[in-house]
Amino acid sequence: MNIDEAYAELGVVPGASEAQVKAAWRRLVSLWHPDRNASAEAAAQIQRINGAYERIRLASAAPAASAGPAGSERSAAPARESKAAPGGRTVRRRVRLTIEEAVQGCTRMLRGRLVDRCSACDGSGELRRPVRCATCEGSGRRRSGWWRVWPAPDATCPDCRGSGTLPRVCPVCEGSGRQARLYRHVVRLPAGVRHGDVLRAGGGGAHRGGFDGSLELHIELAAHPFFALGDDASVHCEFPVDGYAWLAGAWIEVPTPGGLQQMQLRRGHTAYRLRGRGLPRAHDSSERGDYVVKVVPTFPDTLSAEQQALLERLTATGETPPALAAWRARLQRWERARR
Ligand SMILES: [Zn+2]
Ligand SMILES: [Zn+2]
Repeated sequence: MNIDEAYAELGVVPGASEAQVKAAWRRLVSLWHPDRNASAEAAAQIQRINGAYERIRLASAAPAASAGPAGSERSAAPARESKAAPGGRTVRRRVRLTIEEAVQGCTRMLRGRLVDRCSACDGSGELRRPVRCATCEGSGRRRSGWWRVWPAPDATCPDCRGSGTLPRVCPVCEGSGRQARLYRHVVRLPAGVRHGDVLRAGGGGAHRGGFDGSLELHIELAAHPFFALGDDASVHCEFPVDGYAWLAGAWIEVPTPGGLQQMQLRRGHTAYRLRGRGLPRAHDSSERGDYVVKVVPTFPDTLSAEQQALLERLTATGETPPALAAWRARLQRWERARR
């Protein structure tokens, strides 16, 4: 029965007021009530009258809710937007970065899940407009025998407890009252963030797959296989170098947070400082701390015959260093004194 047929059934004009519809229904019910009208037609007639009345009542009560799941979803959208007003919601996120990312800055795609109160049912899990009880067909009264089409007096329907309606499970949240939503949002993290920094970013807006509100990003720096951060925006690194290359003052490649870089070893020096190659001193600052390198000259435990011969030639050649010459002089004086 469509809505126009329902109005026609009750004999009122489409769009008649609730009072007019109710009055027409009452009049027809009293006319066709089985108490007064024992005809076989009466049972069918009462069903049609009740059906028409219910149909009009459903249509006028809540158009969106009566449209089922699709309608509920449409009506849910504005509610969600108004609830998640900008600045209203803050989502905390941990963001783990490498030291390289902290030094250079980076962008991150953040994905997450938001759980909200279901906007279609306001978190109740039931639609505001209940569904008509099928057992009593909305009358609230139990039927039996030929009373099937009309309520017997004082026999309350056990299913709806006389209300004539049953709660309707919200089709959007399937009764849970909660709605989960996935969001994606790209954030830019400036160069120079530290472990423990807290950054704020907009949620991007629900219409772009983000959400209205803000992100609170808690920065964590992952432990690095060989870089460590110092207090003064410095980055530290310690690694072994070939002892002979160190003696020879060779150029070597050293890893910096920005990539490999050439550095000349200096015989006798194990600590090096590359200016401005560390962490930015503030977020996005062009001023940077230093990159501090410590090298550990390393020599082989065993030497080949060739290496041994070369070393012996090396010790036999060249000038004696002053400290060694001074030590040898002291040793000679000591020996002379003993004699
Ligand atoms: Zn019932
Ligand atoms: Zn719901």
